[in-house]
Amino acid sequence: MSQKQCKFCKNEIQDNVKKCPYCLSYQKWYFDNVILYRLLIVLFIVSLFVFSKQRNNDIEFKDFEKNFKVEIVNVQLIKNESNTYKILNLKIDNQTAYKWKYPVVEVRYYNPDGVLVFTEFPTAFQAKITKKEKTNCSFDLRPPQDFLNYKFKIKLKDLYPDNF
Ligand SMILES: [Zn+2]
Repeated sequence: MSQKQCKFCKNEIQDNVKKCPYCLSYQKWYFDNVILYRLLIVLFIVSLFVFSKQRNNDIEFKDFEKNFKVEIVNVQLIKNESNTYKILNLKIDNQTAYKWKYPVVEVRYYNPDGVLVFTEFPTAFQAKITKKEKTNCSFDLRPPQDFLNYKFKIKLKDLYPDNF
């Protein structure tokens, strides 16, 4: 076992001891405060937990509306025996520092005269919007059949904070 000098009383002591057997001084400053350190770690963990809970309850889409950019990727027309509908594929650019889910868009249909004839609010189920990234989301558009081929305008209306 190698030896060293106690920093305080200068007696020869074993290299690996925390406490000098002669003067009872701790050889490293942080051993003096073991209990304090444990307490700080517990406090830190508790505050992280409280902070993350609180943060997710406090954030609301309306406060961050301007930090999202929505781009239409494409629109697909789906025809089968039972019905005809469209799938709207969007790219949502999340410029916030938060994660979100379940985007809701407002889709407004206009007839050839430019008159608003129908509004729907489709939801993309399970869509996870990662922070500081662009995410692709799909929405089923199911307006009354007469309006399916009308021009429409979209707007992101709602999102829910997520903790994934
Ligand atoms: Zn000593």
